[in-house]
Amino acid sequence: MSMMTLEITRHSGPARLGKFHMGEQKLATPNMFSVLTEAVDIEHDIYIASPEVKTKRTPIFVGSGSLNISDKIKIKKDNQILPDYHVGLNVPREMAEKSVRETLRFAENYPEHSAVIQGSRFGDLREECAEGLGDRPLFIIANGRRLIRNPRLLVDVVSSVRETVPPNAALYFPFALPHLFYVLAYMGVDFFDSAECILNARVGKILLPGPADMASLKELPCNCSVCVGRVPEDLLDFDLLLSHNFQEAVKITKEIRESIRANALRELVEEKASGDVGSMAMLRILDAEKQDFLEKYTPVS
Ligand SMILES: [Zn+2]
Repeated sequence: MSMMTLEITRHSGPARLGKFHMGEQKLATPNMFSVLTEAVDIEHDIYIASPEVKTKRTPIFVGSGSLNISDKIKIKKDNQILPDYHVGLNVPREMAEKSVRETLRFAENYPEHSAVIQGSRFGDLREECAEGLGDRPLFIIANGRRLIRNPRLLVDVVSSVRETVPPNAALYFPFALPHLFYVLAYMGVDFFDSAECILNARVGKILLPGPADMASLKELPCNCSVCVGRVPEDLLDFDLLLSHNFQEAVKITKEIRESIRANALRELVEEKASGDVGSMAMLRILDAEKQDFLEKYTPVS
């Protein structure tokens, strides 16, 4: 019996406010994993790390690596995400089919563990993978970073996966830029991560909340604990820039939760999308083509 479950306390369209139970701990969702690496260790309320990273932080999800390299990967703990067969978003159909087949074959023996939904750009394969994985505490959408660049495909994949996996399963979209958390949460994504906070800090980009070049700023338009009393040159330091980026992302998850509580997420998403082409494209596609999906979860009042 898995110790993990998502208790949904409120809906706002397909978006959900919830508590993710992990052992004794309850984490508010939507939420963001603090990605731990050998060089990055930021305190937060929930973590994710690859298997090589040594850490005592909890609660944590740990990856397992890739089935492309070996299918002899050992699964030891409840919080281990099952390995999957990695393929890109634009591979030929046979490759995507192989990835789904191999991912499902391994997962069969571990029916309670969190797993990755493969299927590349093929909607029917994503659904087949999601359906084949059954009921699990957490599902990860593969190719997150590439999907971001294709709003139509992203909307198709996220909405069909959300409708296929059980409602009380948490959905994790890795590698989302924090300013996209709004529209992704609106589609029913429960977990994000700090990967883009780290990647942007590495190349000197500040999240405001979209990525901006530090070199182009005369002032810091932010009042977080890092930015107060500092000038842009001060943030050329990786740790400081990362700390700002991380705080920005955490702020966004809190804003999202608060707006679901107030039944005002739709308004928040519209407001944020008005300043971001990618979010606006996703919102337009949702409105034009996914009305059933959006309305299905709206409570009748
Ligand atoms: Zn700041």
